[in-house]
Amino acid sequence: MNQPVKTYSIETLQALLKENGLPAFRATQMLEWLYGKGVTSYEEMTNMPKAVREQFAEAYPLYTPTVADKQVSIDGSRKYLLRFHDDVIVETVGLPSNDGRLTVCCSSQAGCAMGCTFCATGRNGLTRDLAVGEIVDQILAVQRDFGERVTNVVVMGQGEPFANYDNVLAALRIMNHPKLLSIGARHITVSTCGLIEGINKFAEEPEQFTLAISLHAARQEARDKIMPAVKNQRLGALRQALERYAETTGRRFSFEYALMEGVNDSEEDLQELITYCKRLLCHVNLIPLNEIDDSPIHPVSNDVMRYWRDALENAGTPASIRASRGSDIAGACGQLANKYK
Ligand code: SAH
Ligand code: SF4
Repeated sequence: MNQPVKTYSIETLQALLKENGLPAFRATQMLEWLYGKGVTSYEEMTNMPKAVREQFAEAYPLYTPTVADKQVSIDGSRKYLLRFHDDVIVETVGLPSNDGRLTVCCSSQAGCAMGCTFCATGRNGLTRDLAVGEIVDQILAVQRDFGERVTNVVVMGQGEPFANYDNVLAALRIMNHPKLLSIGARHITVSTCGLIEGINKFAEEPEQFTLAISLHAARQEARDKIMPAVKNQRLGALRQALERYAETTGRRFSFEYALMEGVNDSEEDLQELITYCKRLLCHVNLIPLNEIDDSPIHPVSNDVMRYWRDALENAGTPASIRASRGSDIAGACGQLANKYK
């Protein structure tokens, strides 16, 4: 069945053009129009034969998301709500930094099925997976709005990337491709709630993409409470997968840990985390929890964050406190999209 053109990966688009009797260089041209220049219609693909443009416009519609809303933070970050052709919306954030980098935090799904209790996205369940081009379009939208090249990508917006593995990987390859977005693999980070099968596959990918794991508790009972969907991905098995990941790739990954008062912030939680990280090639990012509306879960004080960071460092695990950005524009994952609904 024909699909919108932006549902195809680099390889499937190449195969599609071949099936339509077109030489290989036409696929390269089309990819450059779609993801290098970011055109919004086939008509703009001026070096493609008119008949091909018309045939494709008919068979494989080209959709481009619109910016339904945009908020600018006092710290310079910009948060967008993008609306796709079927009215599904996702959020994307552009984060400029003083050293010239421009980072995009993009979504991999509209909504999320995992239902983590502290997460705004998790509240409303999954709407649908995003198509390959819908993931890449988020980068193009930020690039266009800032008028600058995007240098870094973190797949930390809405959704669980490893629950939409193939589309996410195909999108990362388009971002990474030297003739398309040309974003270095090491500057692209995927964050997962810890789906072991995905981690195993990701370890085998040839590109040096970076991995982040939302751990949020190294004590099984605490983790089961706040991340109910990954109860079956036990902490022990997760650790083994991460050991293998580090062995296979030689790359350090990071743990994300949002400290939540009375939930995962006890001395026992800290000691479990220290033990969990021992001899793992990891880095711990302590994240200030973004409070979501009507939630009984609250952040801890900065003193507690610093205490945890120092304790981890003293135990030999590199740790840092991630600066919270854009909290004045509903910075947490899913919050803007929820307000919009
Ligand atoms: N589903 C993936 C990626 C998207 S979430 C994952 O869970 O890793 C991106 C990050 O934001 C994750 O580390 C997630 O745990 C974190 N997060 C979610 N809600 C948050 C909140 N209210 N405050 C701080 N971080 C949050
Ligand atoms: Fe989904 Fe990640 Fe939010 Fe959990 S933290 S509900 S996995 S987006």
